Amino acid sequence: MSKSIYVICDSYDKNEYNFAPFIYTILYVRNTVCGISDVVNVLITENVFELCNEELQNVCDNIFVMKMRNNEKLSNYRYCELVYGFLSDQVCDYIFTPSSIIGRSICAWLSGKFNAGVTADVLSLENLDGDIFYKRATTYNNLLAKIVCKSKIQISSIQAPTDIVPQIRKRIADINYINVSEELNDVVFRNEYYTESYDMSGVVIGIGRGVGERDRTKIMEYANKQSIPIVCSRPLVESGVIPYSRQVGQSGKSISCNCYIAIGISGMIQHLVGIVNCKKVISINPDKNAPIHDRADVSIFLKASDIFI
Ligand code: FAD
Repeated sequence: MSKSIYVICDSYDKNEYNFAPFIYTILYVRNTVCGISDVVNVLITENVFELCNEELQNVCDNIFVMKMRNNEKLSNYRYCELVYGFLSDQVCDYIFTPSSIIGRSICAWLSGKFNAGVTADVLSLENLDGDIFYKRATTYNNLLAKIVCKSKIQISSIQAPTDIVPQIRKRIADINYINVSEELNDVVFRNEYYTESYDMSGVVIGIGRGVGERDRTKIMEYANKQSIPIVCSRPLVESGVIPYSRQVGQSGKSISCNCYIAIGISGMIQHLVGIVNCKKVISINPDKNAPIHDRADVSIFLKASDIFI
């Protein structure tokens, strides 16, 4: 059976990108993962596509160009939701991205949404009778791990080599424009793909680096009294303030609850992937530009100390 492969090639900012890694990633995937009948699709936003149209057409089978309404500038969260919205309607076996900041973010997001395995920063791919093995450095680069992924959809970001010889292509890719911005503007996916990994109902409070010691004590006292579970972002675990079992995000737990109150959390994608299944989010953070406010249903632009007096 032929495999359906998606390579997500993107950058939010067309002034800040280099499309060579897109091409290397596609060529590398073609040379290693693909059999003759497999289909390589590329997903890309319109403004970036304009800059590498011809190069892409020569290396893949289909290009899906996401048209943005009025050149909408996307937040990280919104971009990930749009990509997920599109891919969830497709048949896809493998999703690859270059190992860029946006590539890693989208991989982490999609793995949470699809409940699928993810391998970050893959150094090489090996196809052994149809089973794909992912090699990546681990244990502070002292060990090379060979990973096999058992989930239905396999997701990875790749550091593709740059010395790949392109195969001769018989045809150039078909281009399909999709109006994701229009179609998905009001869609919220949070109730779908319910994870069982850390199941909680009711309210959960998440505290981040922005919460000082005094406020943290107050919040914890309050949460204790109300029997509200407390979770946190990674910096609090790294500084030994809260145990790892309470860390939410890419390298921690996923939680599901009716209402997640994020206090002093900036909303980096690695944290957001852990709250994909929270129905409502309330953010408390004085920085109006913090990405957590994009994810939040209710934003409170105040310091923690203004609330927990
Ligand atoms: P910061 O980003 O420092 O944000 C602190 C926020 O507090 C700021 O927005 C600030 O405006 C606000 N603030 C300041 N003062 C106040 C105040 N008085 N009251 C209220 N708000 C205030 N992170 C995770 O959380 N979970 C993971 O599992 C995870 N895994 C990772 C895996 C990898 C491979 C990598 C590279 C990173 C991972 N991270 C993870 C780290 C992640 O990238 C962020 O660094 C982290 O989430 C930031 O935590 P934070 O929001 O608490 O801190």
